[in-house]
Amino acid sequence: MLKIDSVEKGLVIDHIEAGKAMEIYKHLNLDKMDCSVAIIKNAKSSKMGKKDIIKVEDNINMDLKVLGFIDPTITINVIDNGEIIKKINLELPEEIDNIAKCKNPRCITSIEQEIINKFRLTDKENKVYRCVYCDTAYEHN
Ligand SMILES: [Zn+2]
Repeated sequence: MLKIDSVEKGLVIDHIEAGKAMEIYKHLNLDKMDCSVAIIKNAKSSKMGKKDIIKVEDNINMDLKVLGFIDPTITINVIDNGEIIKKINLELPEEIDNIAKCKNPRCITSIEQEIINKFRLTDKENKVYRCVYCDTAYEHN
């Protein structure tokens, strides 16, 4: 079992907006991996009031790019021997595949199920992503 307050080797995904941990858990496909995962919900944070934290044992290859799309203020600490050896800063990815769905019912991705959803960052300042097929803006829920 993974200890809640210490990770020997792995990743600590910190400063997750309170309540978002499960969404991130799903997006990273952690449910399909057999590594130990600890989810801490509503941890106290001086900066945010409340936050969620996910701790993952072992260094697994995960597509962390998706986190930049969900929330670029999330921080990732890479832990080895119980110490932080690296901090990963997230950025808004230029393009995202198969993470968000286009809401336009006339979009080719809504009609043809096998076409993957693709969005491109079109306005960095306002975090606007648009469907590459029909130009519909993605709205974060
Ligand atoms: Zn579309």
